[in-house]
Amino acid sequence: MLDSVKRVILVLSGKGGVGKSTVSTQLALTLKERGYKVGLLDIDLCGPSVPYLLNLENQSVHQGPEGWIPVYLDNEQRLGVMSIGFLLGSRNDAVVWRGPKKTSMIKQFLEDVCWQELDFLVIDTPPGTSDEHITVMENLRQVPQCGAIIVTTPQEVAIEDVRKEITFCKKTGIPILGIIENMSGYQCPNCSECTNIFSSGGGKSLADIAKIPFMGSVPIDPRVGKLAGQGLAAVKELPDSTTSKIFSELVNLL
Ligand code: ADP
Repeated sequence: MLDSVKRVILVLSGKGGVGKSTVSTQLALTLKERGYKVGLLDIDLCGPSVPYLLNLENQSVHQGPEGWIPVYLDNEQRLGVMSIGFLLGSRNDAVVWRGPKKTSMIKQFLEDVCWQELDFLVIDTPPGTSDEHITVMENLRQVPQCGAIIVTTPQEVAIEDVRKEITFCKKTGIPILGIIENMSGYQCPNCSECTNIFSSGGGKSLADIAKIPFMGSVPIDPRVGKLAGQGLAAVKELPDSTTSKIFSELVNLL
């Protein structure tokens, strides 16, 4: 039920593995730490990783009288999470569905989850521009404050895919809030010097060309990967790290 949601942030990427779920999760956690009421909806039906990233894999959603009750990360119920992962028996179970079944599941995710009043609903989408995206975009037109964030890595091949995402958003009329470049260089934990392992600045130059905002770069932070699956990940566990500061700044741009 989206009528109780003030703002929707769609997190998109052209390719898998660029850190879209990590960015979605960290944005949701950072917003929660700021005191907002947040929902995190994982509609990556074929690779739901949000339950793993938040260490919620053993949880399951319950059906209430008015719809699904999300899994809450905290006792104050400031961060509610919904994912297909909660409906699968195990992480290794695969969803092998054709388009119409996927479409109806996404519709259910958008219409039948009792979110309560939310300041932000962050939606982690599958990579690319598939049936899932079209269904989401069609259903989100009713939400007045809805925008997309595109996540990319600095490599040229990922950037190429981003162009398609930009075109898709433009065609479907979803405003693009900006591009985030993830895994953008490696910051040495000892001296804090940042080394650009791959090419650098691709996200920024693409944003300039497409005339959309460049929101910032998140470096490769080995602790992000290590903490994934342990629960509250970067924001809580790395309060003074560059990564948590960057997400704090990113949230200011929303
Ligand atoms: P996607 O959702 O785009 O498929 P994920 O968020 O699942 O990508 O990230 C892919 C992998 O990269 C995960 O193992 C994740 O922990 C790791 N990762 C993502 N961003 C970073 C980062 N900034 N630093 C280190 N590891 C990262």
